[in-house]
Amino acid sequence: MSLPKTRPQSSPAALLRSLGLRATPCRLAIISFLKGKHSPKHLAEIHAALGARYDLATIFRNLREFHHAGLVSTHDMGDRKKWFSLTMPGSPHKHYLRCTLCGETREISQCLWHDADRHIAQKYGYRLVSHKLEFTGICPGCTTVHSTKIR
Ligand SMILES: [Zn+2]
Ligand SMILES: [Zn+2]
Repeated sequence: MSLPKTRPQSSPAALLRSLGLRATPCRLAIISFLKGKHSPKHLAEIHAALGARYDLATIFRNLREFHHAGLVSTHDMGDRKKWFSLTMPGSPHKHYLRCTLCGETREISQCLWHDADRHIAQKYGYRLVSHKLEFTGICPGCTTVHSTKIR
């Protein structure tokens, strides 16, 4: 078990500065919360985790700014909520698998569709092609609990 020492350039404040964003307490709190999470969080969860110190509108506005700066990805998990995860600029994006019964969400370790991006870019003459794709299913735990109902 090794908890890496925080490198100065990876501190939330430095990260914000490198993206030209001011390091306000609310922004720092959002980043600290999302950092190291293995699944996206929705707005109400982030709001609650920050101890309701900031109102929803402020958090949402900051998340939108993060999204424009490439620091946050948004995810549509099919439940009409907006889900957010931290993406380090330049690092590979992530996909998630969500259980439609209990809401457990796991990160899929690998993106299998980068070749598709390239192929589509070539075929249609687009640049910077990317994709958004989330997966839903029923997790092993729910399959056991509800095994009589799921066939
Ligand atoms: Zn489940
Ligand atoms: Zn992908």
